Amino acid sequence: MINLTDKIAIVTGSSQGIGKAIVILFAQLGAKVVINYRSNTEAAELVLKEIIDRGGEGIIIQADVSNFDEAQNLIKTTNKHYGKIDILVNNVGITRDNLIMLMKPADWEMVMQNNLNSAYYCSKVAVRLMMKKRFGRIINISSVVGLSGQGGQTNYSASKAGLIGFTKSLAREIASRNITVNAVAPGFIPTAMTEGVTEDLKNDVIKATPLGRLGKPEEVAYAVAFLASDQASFITGQVLSVDGGLVMQ
Ligand code: NAP
Repeated sequence: MINLTDKIAIVTGSSQGIGKAIVILFAQLGAKVVINYRSNTEAAELVLKEIIDRGGEGIIIQADVSNFDEAQNLIKTTNKHYGKIDILVNNVGITRDNLIMLMKPADWEMVMQNNLNSAYYCSKVAVRLMMKKRFGRIINISSVVGLSGQGGQTNYSASKAGLIGFTKSLAREIASRNITVNAVAPGFIPTAMTEGVTEDLKNDVIKATPLGRLGKPEEVAYAVAFLASDQASFITGQVLSVDGGLVMQ
């Protein structure tokens, strides 16, 4: 049975979508959670209310993790409040899709900054604290397109493939300190991020998915909770796909 009692968990970008499902599940499993968001305060407050109503515990910290100083503040404020950080989920991700000939440098850079650099910023600061405690779990939310590639998403796919390289390298670097680092690669999960996707494209994805449907945020959350748990103590440097079999590695 997965039990996260008394674990302190930061989930970046957890005011909605997959991040929200992760903090809600973590809190149900006993963790004290940090809900992070960039701009939608009301959404973050609703997530905290839902957690408290179900008997859980957490705090909200606003921080744009694509900015190093703010990412550092997120980690340091958590440590000041709770005295440690056991689990860091680098979940923030954005898209700025376009064909490469039309893609503006600003859209390439913004995706890298939010999806890849943010994971480096948060991990850099959290690892120092985890090392002192000789315990840590870092889970990076990648994507199936980081494994398979996707036309029109060179920036997003590169950032998500970059997260996989980052995961494997960091896993090797800090394994001796009892810190594991893994990635989860979700398939298509209906959230605000995928709202603009056409019905035709969704149907194409469903057809290509062996399990014949789209995923749910909660299904990603369960995979993340497992990797964050004591039961996953001998797993590091791995990529766990949660995609209905869409991309088999
Ligand atoms: P989402 O619904 O768009 O939610 C994104 C969350 O991140 C929001 O809480 C948002 O808060 C926050 N956020 C965005 N930029 C931020 C920043 N710079 N600093 C702090 N918070 C920030 O996204 P999602 O679909 O749940 O995706 C979550 C992760 O899963 C992403 O990494 C995504 O790439 C990955 N993923 C998603 C899918 C999918 O099909 N949905 C598939 C594969 C992988 P504000 O609203 O306040 O900005």
